Amino acid sequence: MLCSQKRGSEFRSTPPTSNDHNFFVGLAKKGSHMQQDNVQTTYDTAKQIANQNTQEVWYNNWMEDDKGRQLYQHLPKPNPKDPINNLDRKDQCNIFRLRTGHIMLNGHRNRIDPLVPPMCRHCGIHTETVEHHLFHCVNLRNLRKNLLPSNPTLENCLYGNVNQLKKTSKFHIIASRVDRA
Ligand SMILES: [Zn+2]
Repeated sequence: MLCSQKRGSEFRSTPPTSNDHNFFVGLAKKGSHMQQDNVQTTYDTAKQIANQNTQEVWYNNWMEDDKGRQLYQHLPKPNPKDPINNLDRKDQCNIFRLRTGHIMLNGHRNRIDPLVPPMCRHCGIHTETVEHHLFHCVNLRNLRKNLLPSNPTLENCLYGNVNQLKKTSKFHIIASRVDRA
C-alpha cells in the first residue's frame, strides 16, 4: 500500500503493514483535527452514502434493540426477497401482525385492555395467542388441515412461500370471525 500525506511529519518510506494498527489510528486522529477540504461530489453519490449510513444505523439498532425479538429470531436482517412483499395489502398486514404478535387476538387485546378476557374465542379455555390460534385450538382443527402445512410452525406458516402466506392469512381471517365456531 502506498500512503501519501500532504501534511504532517510522520512520513514513512516503507509501506505500513496490516499490523501497523497504531500508525493508522494515530494518522486518523491527527487527520480528524486538520482542516477538511470540501470535495465536490454528485448528488447521487451523496444520496447513496446517506442511504448506506441510514441502513447501517437502522441495522445496528435492530441488532441491539430488545424490541421486535419475536420477529428477529426469524428475520435477523431485512430481506428484500421476503415473499410478504408479493402479497396484497390485506394479507401483508395479517402476516406482519401474526409475525409480531401485535394482532387483534384476545391474548394481545388483553395486554392493551385488561378488561378484555384473554381467552380464545373458540374454545374459551386457553389464552388466544398466535401459537394457540395457528397450531393448537381444537376447534380450528379442520380449518388448519385445509389451509396450514401438516406440521405447522411459525417458520412454515409465516415465513414460507407466497402461496402459504396467502393461505395463512386466509386461515386468520376465517378463524378470527367471532361467529364462526
Ligand atoms: Zn382455542
